[in-house]
Amino acid sequence: MRKPPVANRERGVWGASEASPPPDFLEEPAAQFPPNHLLAPSCLPITLSAPIWQAFTFETCFYLLHVPSSSILKVPQPIWQKVCEGGDFPEPLELRKPIPLNTPLVNITSIALNVAERCNLRCTYCYAGDGTYGNDSLMSFEIARRAIRFFSRAGQALHIVFFGGEPLLNFKLIKEVVEWCGRESLVFRFSLTTNGALLTNAHLEFFRAHDFALRISYDGKRLQAEQRTRNKRLADLIERKLETFRTRLLSLRQFHLRATIRRGSLEGFLGDSLQILSSHTYRLVAARVASLAESERFEVSDIQKWGVLLTRLVDELLKREEWEKLLLLGNLRRHLRNFAVGKSQPFCGAGINYLSVSTRGEFFLCHRFTEDREECAGSLENGLDGAYLQRIVEYRQGGREPCRSCWMRSFCQGGCFHEHKMASKKISTIDPLFCQLQDVEMKLALRIFVALKQKAPAHLQTLVSAP
Ligand code: SF4
Ligand code: SF4
Repeated sequence: MRKPPVANRERGVWGASEASPPPDFLEEPAAQFPPNHLLAPSCLPITLSAPIWQAFTFETCFYLLHVPSSSILKVPQPIWQKVCEGGDFPEPLELRKPIPLNTPLVNITSIALNVAERCNLRCTYCYAGDGTYGNDSLMSFEIARRAIRFFSRAGQALHIVFFGGEPLLNFKLIKEVVEWCGRESLVFRFSLTTNGALLTNAHLEFFRAHDFALRISYDGKRLQAEQRTRNKRLADLIERKLETFRTRLLSLRQFHLRATIRRGSLEGFLGDSLQILSSHTYRLVAARVASLAESERFEVSDIQKWGVLLTRLVDELLKREEWEKLLLLGNLRRHLRNFAVGKSQPFCGAGINYLSVSTRGEFFLCHRFTEDREECAGSLENGLDGAYLQRIVEYRQGGREPCRSCWMRSFCQGGCFHEHKMASKKISTIDPLFCQLQDVEMKLALRIFVALKQKAPAHLQTLVSAP
């Protein structure tokens, strides 16, 4: 009787003939499986309609992602071809343990404290009505203290994200809150998102002393002046701060830039992102503009263009083997990390482990929904709205189409509620453009993953252990 194949890091055993060499496993299998598990997909925790394999190529080689376990295999072309055509493997394989899809349970471990519903910039694309959310106000210490008490649990760290508008417009409150937290017998972690215009050395000193993660919204040197402030001096000032504060920024627990991409600025962004990666070497996350305005609405062709530009950028960096720069691409880094650790992760924790708190002490699905009455999840006065949160749990369970039969379901679980709502006016209707962009990004991440695995595995290791 032929023994079941055993895979190892160097070479997977395929029960292969000379003409059909074995696949190379790019991941150590984590568990022993019944030998026929691939021939009986119903024993896997996914539906029969869901794809098991995602095929891709890199350089001249052929690869398959085993979707349920996120194992990645290098295979001979005939096998790749067969799987592309809907066939299965002729032999059983040992793979990593299937990633169980999380059954979401509401446990809020992270809150965005909207300390300032007010802003000092006037971004043309702002989803929050010039940063005011229609409510131009600052949070009081009393609201902040009550919200933190409401969401704190003994034995569980609470992550507090200071958000706005521009949170540094209420820095006095931030200091007060952090100092008060220091006197409480609970564990807290802090983050802050700012546009950087008011940022000083003293702020950075405070953030370092209290182990903050920091995110600066920044669209790139040229676009910043065009779409965020008509005040060129202010745009230049932010630019200078990114340079002069460099050492301090990089010494924080975590730091990254976050760019907003408009359909009209896609090409500009490519040039600017190269500049950011080359001159600043800061991590960069890019997101589509979030707006109901017709003129800002992305179309299929915009996403295709975004895919082409991003692919061009990645190809260039792969060709130059600029691994550090590739890992600065935050959108792809997240997927790379998931592939490396074989972990399922919803696109975000909104409504499951994350809510935003408005200046008036009301709770919303996430920071982008602040003051959106339809997405209110309760308040300090009335507590959490259980029926609303139950609906969010159902959306995240992945049992609905198109998520149910999507090859990215383990790593996405329903995507961004806000992007869906901007496209369809409902958080529950999946925006196909969101999925299209995910498809582009995940396939690029797969290619980078195999490149790193083969040519620079130490970088993958760093990624796994990085915060
Ligand atoms: S939101 Fe789109 S990409 Fe995400 S799991 Fe659902 S179908 Fe797939
Ligand atoms: S719903 Fe969208 S905008 Fe809100 S936290 Fe999730 S990913 Fe971010």
